[in-house]
Amino acid sequence: MAIRFDILTTFPEMFSELSPAAMGVSIPARARKAGLAEWHATDIRSYSKDKHRKTDERPFGGGPGMVMMCQPVWDAVMAVEGLDARPATRILLTPQGVPLKQGLVEELAKKERLLLIAGHYEGIDERVIQKLAPMEISIGDYVLSGGELAAMVLMDAVIRLIPGVLGDDESAGSDSFGVASGDREGRRLLDCPHYTRPREWEGMEVPEVLMSGDHGRIAKWRLERMVERTRERRPDLFPNKEGEK
Ligand code: SAM
Repeated sequence: MAIRFDILTTFPEMFSELSPAAMGVSIPARARKAGLAEWHATDIRSYSKDKHRKTDERPFGGGPGMVMMCQPVWDAVMAVEGLDARPATRILLTPQGVPLKQGLVEELAKKERLLLIAGHYEGIDERVIQKLAPMEISIGDYVLSGGELAAMVLMDAVIRLIPGVLGDDESAGSDSFGVASGDREGRRLLDCPHYTRPREWEGMEVPEVLMSGDHGRIAKWRLERMVERTRERRPDLFPNKEGEK
């Protein structure tokens, strides 16, 4: 059965399957077409009891910006959860959440249903966050205008790990941050460099080993480059002091 994403947002049009700019192209679109992933965006405004369908108000205590109100968010979550019998893992996209890393993406890809809440303005009233008790996830140490792009980042990263979404020749096993296939220690490494035609470009040759046809040597060379790159660029990924060598 397809993994189901529900996105609660004040900009549902960003998730339209008709929008080729975002989720309507490439691997997410292919997964949707193959019945391996589905997503439904719900407009939080539709659940506002305000006659102007307002979802935000000025913050208590003063200060700039607006705060998303409890009632529309709560009612939207309750209604959307009832649309499918599968229990949903609630996720709030927020710069204050746990960082989205590949290990977490792998955990999320095992779920049947993810409910993603995208905030705006200054964020969401703390009380509804407390009551919903969602997993709070950040896509990085910077601030976006809204949670929609963060939700798309999470969805894209999850979708490509769903079995059957990537073909054999584009397996996620050798991508950066995945457990490196072929590494006896099962480390999460950066990917190796890649090359394609032509064999020589601007005086630069493709490494000879890649032209050798010797799969054992090629695999060994790739793993060595992965370890080397990780040591140079992201020594923090090594679980021990290896990166400091
Ligand atoms: N005042 C909030 C703060 O400083 O923590 C930032 C609010 S931000 C302008 C509006 C919304 O964008 C947030 O509610 C959240 O949904 C989303 N957002 C912004 N940066 C994000 C990030 N790094 N990761 C995930 N979501 C983010």
